[in-house]
Amino acid sequence: MIPVNSVLQVGSFPEMMQAEVDQRLKAVRLTNPHDPVPAGTFEAILTRSSTPIPTALLQQIPGLKVIACCGVGYDNLPLDYLKEHGIQASTTPGVLNDAVCELGIGLMFALLRNLPAADQFVRSGQWPKAIFPIATTLAGKTVGIVGLGRIGQDLAKRLTPFGVQIAYFGPSQKDVPYAFFNSVSALAKACDILILTCPGGPETEKIINAEVLEALGSKGFLVNIARGSVVDEPALLSALSQKRIAGAALDVFENEPSPDAAFMKLDNVVLAPHIGSATSETRQAMTRLAIQNLEAFFRQQPLLTPIK
Ligand code: NAP
Repeated sequence: MIPVNSVLQVGSFPEMMQAEVDQRLKAVRLTNPHDPVPAGTFEAILTRSSTPIPTALLQQIPGLKVIACCGVGYDNLPLDYLKEHGIQASTTPGVLNDAVCELGIGLMFALLRNLPAADQFVRSGQWPKAIFPIATTLAGKTVGIVGLGRIGQDLAKRLTPFGVQIAYFGPSQKDVPYAFFNSVSALAKACDILILTCPGGPETEKIINAEVLEALGSKGFLVNIARGSVVDEPALLSALSQKRIAGAALDVFENEPSPDAAFMKLDNVVLAPHIGSATSETRQAMTRLAIQNLEAFFRQQPLLTPIK
């Protein structure tokens, strides 16, 4: 049992996630993480990986011992502060792989076949008057995955039946039947479609830069389902507008929820509002796993899915 009012819920949760939380525990809510912390004795924070957790917030909760985060990215947590103060943290890995892979593949096809424009073409009555531009097929292409972790490996398995070659880049070579490249540029040069599934944070900041986009080339496509920070957006906008890459499908942006307005003017992009895990099944599983981590903590057991 989670003690009443021992958990501070930080950030706003979508309705169905909030209903799941309310069913399982009684938390005090702080919608804006920059507002003062309400009075109370909190041992735990429940939040989402999209909510930035400022150090100033944590400094107001001296008794804090654990943060349970719905989501797998932890680039919004002040990890140094947590380590220094012995605060544990958990995420919800694995349970969102299906939804994120499905979105990545959906975005990739939307991009290759220009589906948003095809939909508009039919709706606006252009079909009887013109021929819709010919697109490109996935089969026979090489797909490069940046970050072959849980999501990256599941994605590779799902893509293989489409008749593609898989290649990847990451900090370590893995025991997998895919070609390994030791730099992002080398991978970009070797592939037709580059899909990003690595973590955000300082180590991956802007690793997709002008040089990588140049290597991807004018027939290459970029799909970002990782984090906006991984891509140098001015370099991407320049490559897209000058058609130095063929197109990009983006679920994540440097500035969310207000991406650079220049993206809206391009006809070779497909844009989504950071919805990789946004299915009811997945969001429910994420919320449950985050709460199970809190339950484990209050039973004085190890967290189920700690950040290591
Ligand atoms: P994961 O299992 O930790 O996989 C991350 C992979 O990235 C690992 O294989 C890791 O390599 C690799 N990596 C680490 N640093 C790298 C670098 N500098 N360059 C290239 N690769 C690097 O995490 P996951 O569960 O697959 O999730 C991956 C990311 O997806 C999350 O961190 C999150 O940012 C993003 N995500 C987005 C959405 C969305 O809504 N769009 C939803 C969920 C997750 P090693 O294996 O060698 O450590």
